[in-house]
Amino acid sequence: AAIAPDMGAAARPHIEQALRELQVETELDVGVAALDEAGVVLSDGRRIDTLTVIWAAGMRAAPLTATIPAERDDLGRLIVDRNLRVPGIAGVFATGDAAKVPCDELGNHALMSCQHATRMGAFAGHNAAADLLGVPGQPYHQETYVTCLDLGEAGAIFTRGWDREVELLGAAAKELKREINTVWIYPPRAERTAALASADPQRVTDL
Ligand SMILES: Cc1cc2nc3c(=O)[nH]c(=O)nc-3n(C[C@H](O)[C@H](O)[C@H](O)COP(=O)(O)OP(=O)(O)OC[C@H]3O[C@@H](n4cnc5c(N)ncnc54)[C@H](O)[C@@H]3O)c2cc1C
Repeated sequence: AAIAPDMGAAARPHIEQALRELQVETELDVGVAALDEAGVVLSDGRRIDTLTVIWAAGMRAAPLTATIPAERDDLGRLIVDRNLRVPGIAGVFATGDAAKVPCDELGNHALMSCQHATRMGAFAGHNAAADLLGVPGQPYHQETYVTCLDLGEAGAIFTRGWDREVELLGAAAKELKREINTVWIYPPRAERTAALASADPQRVTDL
């Protein structure tokens, strides 16, 4: 087992260093067997007394996806075509965390992330409306992929590409993380022109 296994070999040493700096102790190769209001019991029988437990063990699609009689992946996401349509069920589209779809021609798939959900939402909305009007939809695509992981007081780490090449560290990455959270993924103004512009697939910015 490794810390942050999905973040890749280039990013991991920086994440481990940040945890050391912040004096965070880690326990690998052990699971959580039970939780109660005063602590956790680990799978090797040890107990950690604590009033605060933060569970960060992965994501699943919303239960609503299970009510659609269509193929799903092991995260519960509906497998959709490039127009985000659920195959075989007229008028049903799935997007964001509820959909599994390729995002480029290289075999990568959209992740359960704001980065993908924001752009997929614009395509799905456009395509659902196009479907009602009987005009062709626009295939979803998203070639750019970045990650920006907040590391608390140790700053952040920003990587680019599916190989996660480290591009920024420390305070510079932290500043970008702040900008992502307060500008990039922030909802548009509650005003018609801004809302429609943010929903236009041709104008949704790829980070
Ligand atoms: C704690 C946390 C931290 C995260 N941090 C990051 C991050 O730093 N960066 C990042 O990229 N991603 C992050 N994510 C993931 C990101 O939030 C999701 O990928 C993104 O919000 C998915 O968007 P969505 O629109 O598909 O789904 P959601 O934002 O989950 O919206 C789905 C909506 O549908 C509603 N809904 C569900 N079922 C029904 C129903 N039956 N009827 C009506 N409404 C229903 C829900 O209430 C919800 O409002 C984080 C997620 C969590 C939980």
